[in-house]
Amino acid sequence: MNNTKVVLKDQTKVALCLRSAGALLPCYHRSMLTPDLAALDRDDPLAPLRARFRLPEGIIYLDGNSLGALPADVPAHVAAVTETQWGEGLIRSWNNHDWIDLPARVGNRIAPLIGAAAGTVVAADSTSVNLFKVLVAALRLRPGRRVILTEAGNFPTDAYMADSVARLLAEEHEVRAVPASALPAALTADVAVLLLTEVNYRTGARHDMAGLTAAAHAAGALAIWDLAHSAGALPVGLATADADFAVGCGYKYLNGGPGAPAFVYVAPRHLATYAQPLEGWLGHAAPFAFADTYHRAAGIDAMRVGTPPILALSALDKALDAFAGVDLAALKAKADRLFDIFLSTLAAEGQPLECLTPADPHRRGTQVSLRHPEAYAVMQALIARGVIGDFREPDILRFGLTPLYLRHVEVAAAARILAEILATRAWDLPQYRRRAKVV
Ligand SMILES: *Cc1c(COP(=O)(O)O)cnc(C)c1O
Repeated sequence: MNNTKVVLKDQTKVALCLRSAGALLPCYHRSMLTPDLAALDRDDPLAPLRARFRLPEGIIYLDGNSLGALPADVPAHVAAVTETQWGEGLIRSWNNHDWIDLPARVGNRIAPLIGAAAGTVVAADSTSVNLFKVLVAALRLRPGRRVILTEAGNFPTDAYMADSVARLLAEEHEVRAVPASALPAALTADVAVLLLTEVNYRTGARHDMAGLTAAAHAAGALAIWDLAHSAGALPVGLATADADFAVGCGYKYLNGGPGAPAFVYVAPRHLATYAQPLEGWLGHAAPFAFADTYHRAAGIDAMRVGTPPILALSALDKALDAFAGVDLAALKAKADRLFDIFLSTLAAEGQPLECLTPADPHRRGTQVSLRHPEAYAVMQALIARGVIGDFREPDILRFGLTPLYLRHVEVAAAARILAEILATRAWDLPQYRRRAKVV
């Protein structure tokens, strides 16, 4: 809490700085910074990582949990792949540039970020599609058990996919969604699969992956983890936790770009036996034998379905360079510091909001979720002032604290701008209530 006190002590200076500038934003990175926040940034060993990203001037980006920022090297890499590998290499690049194994190469680069061994992760499809594949594969490994157990309030696509899989299979299955606290007791003898998202998209609460996986195994069930809000945000220990399957997003904390390919993990002990239901030709043991019947590839390659999107995969591949040499525990520690600065600054400005995110750093990811009855309008007012977070139903202001590219001063400035919007009711305008298609 030392950092928090520092921030409180210096609040007046930052407030004066922000208010005297008319347009609130530009001043926070000029010379009028409070010395202590500036010192936190100066002494931050992660600060140089920001240079690996391209961020627009005048924007404080607190939505990297929804769409990661653009890594600086990605545009030139995608251009080179397009012009040279596609334009000149044409179809020869499947071999000459090994496009065919790019999904496995990218998977092997994601593996260390999620505590997985090489050969257990592949980049493919979307998280939604991968959920379908691992749910069916897991249920097939637990014949005779009928229940998919999940948390009430899981991300919609996880819930929808579980419902659909339950209806689809010949032996009728059932989805049970219970509150997080009721999960251990709900692991009864009829549960085939425990399907959970490690960090909740709405609240930022984090499950005990190792503990719940062990509880699932003790009950004879398998555990599937959705890492959409943890991969690239904090240390994830799939192998240590002994998880059975996992899926996750390429476009959130991994910064792979809008709609980037997702990834899927299979525990080594299941690699020889799992059977995913989308039997496409590139999951075949010998795609170019063009055989009439499907024989699955060995290992993780059987999670592949169709032709990989090489341009999108190349962007994700290059984006992963940003993690080179990065200590994920240090990333999480910085996110925790940013969390304290954000909330203490808001409180010091006299505008504390109810926080849905757990106070215990071990129980949360790297976002902060605050409640306000007019959260949608408040967020639009924030965005109009250059502070980009997002809104989640029904009343949540969500801010992603992505320490790869955020400065301490920015997070304090964002909290101050939020406080100002709340104090002046600047959000109370009709244009801020108009809902866009994407929120
Ligand atoms: C973002 C997110 C997804 C997204 O799935 P897509 O198929 O990429 O749209 C899935 N699950 C969780 C928990 C998420 O947060």
